[in-house]
Amino acid sequence: MRRTPPWWRDAVAIACWVSALVVLLLWVSGRGLQLLGSGPADLLISVGRLTGLVAADLLLVQVFLMARVPIIERSYGQDELARRHRLVGFYSFNLLLAHIVLITVGYTLRDHSDLLRETWTIVTAYGGMLLAVAATIALTAVAVTSVRVARKALRYESWHLLHLYAYVGVGLSIPHEIWTGQDFSTSRLAQVYWWSAYALAAGAIAFYRVGLPIWRTLRHGITVSSVVRESQDVVTVHLAGRGLHRLPVQAGQFFVFRFLDGPGWSRGNPYSLSAPPRHHRLQITAKDAGDSSRRLAGLRPGTKVLIEGPYGRLTGERRIGRRLAMLACGIGITPLRALLEDLPYSPGDAVLVYRARSSPDLVFREELEQLARDRGTTVHYVLGRRITDRKSWLPQEAAQWEDAAALEALVPHLSAYDVFVCGPDPWMDAISAAALEAGLPASQLHQERFSW
Ligand SMILES: Cc1cc2nc3c(=O)[nH]c(=O)nc-3n(C[C@H](O)[C@H](O)[C@H](O)COP(=O)(O)OP(=O)(O)OC[C@H]3O[C@@H](n4cnc5c(N)ncnc54)[C@H](O)[C@@H]3O)c2cc1C
Repeated sequence: MRRTPPWWRDAVAIACWVSALVVLLLWVSGRGLQLLGSGPADLLISVGRLTGLVAADLLLVQVFLMARVPIIERSYGQDELARRHRLVGFYSFNLLLAHIVLITVGYTLRDHSDLLRETWTIVTAYGGMLLAVAATIALTAVAVTSVRVARKALRYESWHLLHLYAYVGVGLSIPHEIWTGQDFSTSRLAQVYWWSAYALAAGAIAFYRVGLPIWRTLRHGITVSSVVRESQDVVTVHLAGRGLHRLPVQAGQFFVFRFLDGPGWSRGNPYSLSAPPRHHRLQITAKDAGDSSRRLAGLRPGTKVLIEGPYGRLTGERRIGRRLAMLACGIGITPLRALLEDLPYSPGDAVLVYRARSSPDLVFREELEQLARDRGTTVHYVLGRRITDRKSWLPQEAAQWEDAAALEALVPHLSAYDVFVCGPDPWMDAISAAALEAGLPASQLHQERFSW
């Protein structure tokens, strides 16, 4: 597979800024600047227009970032995209609130009315405003449930379902922009820009999030071939399908899977491939973390599988040098084991540090020892309960060690390695910090988070 050019990241960021700049210029050309000097009412209305336009633009950027456009997805990775999506959402929602307040107060001043009466007039007398109110309610529900505390209190599926209201919000706000938005109705250029932006965002979602997954699912006809228990709470699901060599997937990537095994099948869960993809088979290995992952153990051979993906950038594409260090914790071993099997390296050039609570919690032990024998991979198991009185990647048994020193002891000359990290978030943060402290350049640190 062709390497994703690194400049794509910058190109995407520049495109987002350019879109905001275009919106600003359209506002200027719609007398936005002149109106700033025409008294307090016009000033508030004009700034209110600008905040509304930028909020709408950022909302579309948000939708586009989550459209899973492959080149964007591979440039940033799903976890970083989700973080940026949240950040853009924060600004977009606050600008939306500013838009509502500024326009309402501005119109109140202009009409010498009172705030309540003016609010009522705006909502009932202007075209598309009732829909805009519904859009605001939908977007507020999404914003409130995305605040960390609220999100933690909700089941993932409930949160995700609520999150889909953002699309409803975007859709419902369009009539208000067309019918009452001064910029939209007076400028041909603005119409071309906004219709193109809406078409691009809707097209990307329809194609990449709906069309492509359906097409790939039908083309490859993936089914479960067997389920093997790896440990008390971990199973491997072996999958078979037609022409899987035509799937543009690499070791280290993941799919969102839906297993057609009865009620609840519509919940999609992301799992990394736990072995390199082969012509007719794929495999995933999952830990029992809740309802959906628990069901995997009971899957019957022949169960049909819907796939979305492949996604993820924890692949050999990101490798810069010759040596590889894989740092895994718990079920984070899955993509790293696939990479260790798949990537080329000479004996002695690859090290695996595998952290688990106890020996029975280790999965793929046989396969890893086979790798050590056949390919000269160095494997270190780091076992024990976690340290509770400081943030550390080490177990209690090694509490006397400094984090960076312990890592260097296991992987001497760490800074000469490409380091791939996967595991629970706090552990990843601790070991990544230790690796950087040990002198690893940030460009050689490659991570995939199992949480968005
Ligand atoms: C990129 C990626 C790759 C992953 N690879 C693996 C893997 O190889 N093996 C493995 O065991 N686990 C993997 N996971 C984690 C796995 O997706 C979750 O454990 C699983 O979805 C939990 O679902 P549940 O219904 O069993 O548990 P729940 O109780 O519903 O969820 C437990 C936690 O998992 C997270 N989660 C649930 N559903 C989703 C979802 N659809 N998308 C993202 N996060 C979700 C939530 O943060 C939740 O707090 C991966 C996650 C990501 C994001």
